[in-house]
Amino acid sequence: MKSAVPDFSEFPPGTVTDYTTLVCLACIFDIFTKQIGLAPRSAYSEIKRYSPTIEELTSRTAVRPFFDSEEKHPRCPYCDAAKRWHARLDTHCIEGGKTTDTPRRKLVKSIEKKSDQFAVTEVKSDRRQAFFDWLDTLRISIDLSDPDWLLAATKAFLERKEPKQNWDEVFEGLRTVRPSSRLEDGWEREGSRLFLSPALFNESLLVQYLVSRSHEHGGRTLAGRLTLMELIRRMRKGGYLSAHNISQGDQFEIFEKLIDEVAGSGNLKVYYVVDRREFLEKVKSVYAAYA
Ligand SMILES: [Zn+2]
Repeated sequence: MKSAVPDFSEFPPGTVTDYTTLVCLACIFDIFTKQIGLAPRSAYSEIKRYSPTIEELTSRTAVRPFFDSEEKHPRCPYCDAAKRWHARLDTHCIEGGKTTDTPRRKLVKSIEKKSDQFAVTEVKSDRRQAFFDWLDTLRISIDLSDPDWLLAATKAFLERKEPKQNWDEVFEGLRTVRPSSRLEDGWEREGSRLFLSPALFNESLLVQYLVSRSHEHGGRTLAGRLTLMELIRRMRKGGYLSAHNISQGDQFEIFEKLIDEVAGSGNLKVYYVVDRREFLEKVKSVYAAYA
């Protein structure tokens, strides 16, 4: 029944973040009938219209009636209801900008007549927030115990930095990533090695550091384990700090400025597309059982 609508395949990698949460309809019916005191029929029509907040849909820690579970047959952690009472809500967050404007307009047009099935919300944000959301998602999707995670993190960073490039192709069969002082900017692949300009390499180290820092003393990077001090020293030595006019301040002030360089600054819009199809189907079947 689910077709390829909405189609996210035209968005550059790293510009769409997916969130998924389970909602317990037994809990919702309970809230509407017992706490609010509605008759099942009115509860049913209220629940069909119910639209959770973006916060509820994308939060890393779910609260009632939402919960997250990796299990095949989860039970509701609040009321122990079985799977047939649960509905999945998928939320896709599109980062606004030049590279996503065209596919986003196309996508919104493809679902505009199905406004009950898909909710689209526009939210003002900024590049720094978008960068940290992206980083959060990267941290979850990457397995730090996999020896190839540094390559995966570097690829994700480059996808974000240069979305038009086909990085799948560039990383195909790749074994190592190294800095090359021969390159003033950009990158070059040679055999199974990818060479990055020193600036690009240093920025990729910063991303690797940010992904892994909470797990270790310092972070793990393509240049080995680095503390914040060592990372900054390395970037200073490579000329990154002077090239970006960052020299004043203690290590934390410098760190903040480095993040601004990599994340970018200024405002942007993000667009949340909530897929309510399974929710609507389940509300109907649950009501049929309830009534
Ligand atoms: Zn429940």
